[in-house]
Amino acid sequence: MATIKSAIPTRRFDAVIVGAGGSGMRASLQLAEAGLNVAVLSKVFPTRSHTVAAQGGIGASLGNMAEDNWFWHMFDTVKGGDYLGDQDAIEFMCREAPKVVYELEHFGMPFDRNPDGTIYQRPFGGHTANLGEKPVQRACAAADRTGHALLHTLYQRNVRARTHFFVEWMALDLIRDADGDVIGVVALEMETGECMILEAKTTIMATGGAGRIFAASTNAFINTGDGMGMAARAGLPLQDMEFWQFHPTGVSGAGVLITEGVRGEGGILINSEGERFMERYAPTLKDLAPRDFVSRSMDQEIKEGRGCGPNKDHVMLDLRHIGADTIAKRLPSILEIGHKFANVDATKEPIPVVPTIHYQMGGIPTNIHGQVVTPKDGAPAVVNGLYAIGECACVSVHGANRLGTNSLLDLVVFGRAAGNHIVASNLKAKENKPLPADAAKFSMERLARLENSTGSETVQGVANDIRAAMQKYCGVFRTEELLKQGYVEIMKLDERRKHVAFKDKSMVFNTARVEALELDNLIETAKATITSAVARKESRGAHAHSDYPQRDDDNWMKHTLWYSEGNRLEYKPVVTKPLTVDTFKPKPRTF
Ligand SMILES: Cc1cc2nc3c(=O)[nH]c(=O)nc-3n(C[C@H](O)[C@H](O)[C@H](O)COP(=O)(O)OP(=O)(O)OC[C@H]3O[C@@H](n4cnc5c(N)ncnc54)[C@H](O)[C@@H]3O)c2cc1C
Repeated sequence: MATIKSAIPTRRFDAVIVGAGGSGMRASLQLAEAGLNVAVLSKVFPTRSHTVAAQGGIGASLGNMAEDNWFWHMFDTVKGGDYLGDQDAIEFMCREAPKVVYELEHFGMPFDRNPDGTIYQRPFGGHTANLGEKPVQRACAAADRTGHALLHTLYQRNVRARTHFFVEWMALDLIRDADGDVIGVVALEMETGECMILEAKTTIMATGGAGRIFAASTNAFINTGDGMGMAARAGLPLQDMEFWQFHPTGVSGAGVLITEGVRGEGGILINSEGERFMERYAPTLKDLAPRDFVSRSMDQEIKEGRGCGPNKDHVMLDLRHIGADTIAKRLPSILEIGHKFANVDATKEPIPVVPTIHYQMGGIPTNIHGQVVTPKDGAPAVVNGLYAIGECACVSVHGANRLGTNSLLDLVVFGRAAGNHIVASNLKAKENKPLPADAAKFSMERLARLENSTGSETVQGVANDIRAAMQKYCGVFRTEELLKQGYVEIMKLDERRKHVAFKDKSMVFNTARVEALELDNLIETAKATITSAVARKESRGAHAHSDYPQRDDDNWMKHTLWYSEGNRLEYKPVVTKPLTVDTFKPKPRTF
């Protein structure tokens, strides 16, 4: 064991952050500006993290274009999440929202402007005025490239604050000591194929989502659920993983996202009969109902034979009436995506769209400060030295269904909050805990297994079959039979995964090795999802179960916790008490 340790170089930091998306870089900025020694690891150059692809906006009740306040935002978020969100965390996020958006503005983020110079805001799905009365303009936008503007702003501020970036480094596993405290990570330098231990007084997981466990996804190829895999292998639970959001408007056949901002700017969904069908399903909010609702309505139209195209397998997103000038000004990327991925000129023709996997509501369970929590003797206990933020975390502010614009908000609110909490813990004065002799053993054994494998399975073969199975058995509408079959398939794939081998054993930039390591994370995320989904016998938010079509608050208003070991489930209560206001009691969700 000692030889393994001495063979691996070690570097020591106050804080190590795995992930350079919006959440990771918001946290690192807070820490670096406080004078801490911070390392940020990323599989790709920081500004290529998936946050860069966010289009539509970041939610905050600034009230620049119509009256708004945080309480209405909170109501929408609780209701949009189908009452599974923790109301203390939701109140915190919605109250913090204006502050963090103005802060981004002062950092130099190039928001679009109103004629009076204030930040431009567009309507978005599920965001309403006066507790559901009508859509409200709450999405602060930089054209349809809000994530791009946000991520570049944060990167530049981090360069200024001297954050230490490890670019094209892949974290493999968390290091926990005998007390169960997290004291760093083992990581692989993709350029050389060599490993290193990064010791940390605090480790923050900010690895983003795992949309790549599905075949049709709006997510970047790097979104393979590495944070979920690392947490699961370290014995930590994953929360609410049955809840996956289908975005209503992925380009049919391509998966590329068309932002909800298109409907915010006035775009409408139409079926093969040219009917604006959302008027039937959601008379008040129509095309701007929350995503789970719109996706199910679209699926229903397709099922009932009113889909478009030769196979009647998609519907149309019509934005022609918005006008070429507004499209060019507010939705330039959508025009380009229409051209490149659907071969249509969106100013003259509608875009073919289908519900496409987009976002995971679940993740690594945390409290409001971003600290990872796990049940111990019936009460939530903090895992010392470990935080999780962004899409890989489950605070839970999105409950069973996230509202558009609330993820970018979640990244900056909780990235900042985690940073502040760590700074307040006076990390500078603390020592790094001693590294056990076998700190890297687990990761080195994982690597050795892959290196020496003579199995007959290929990484791509197993990964593609995971994606196909998730797509088939765990889609927009789920049934008992489908979920049970899906469970069996995913468990078989878990076995097959143990027999993968790759031929190219070279060290320098070997993407085959990286993909093989990612497969271990895909399968943990898929197992968590299907196991949690089979068990939940109700319909809530994105978990639409045809055999149990009603929400069942008496039995199921609770969070799922999945453990990799033994593929075991536990449950914990939803926090229904907000910080200062009265509880929003569950009501039927109509829009
Ligand atoms: C196309 C698209 C459009 C969207 N539009 C919006 C929108 O308009 N508004 C909104 O609120 N939300 C939107 N979302 C959702 C939102 O963008 C994401 O949820 C959010 O950006 C995730 O940010 P993050 O910081 O959690 O992680 P990411 O931005 O995904 O970054 C993850 C980071 O982790 C790193 N990483 C992962 N694994 C490892 C590893 N093993 N080792 C080292 N580094 C690792 C990656 O390299 C990357 O730097 C959109 C999502 C998509 C896919």
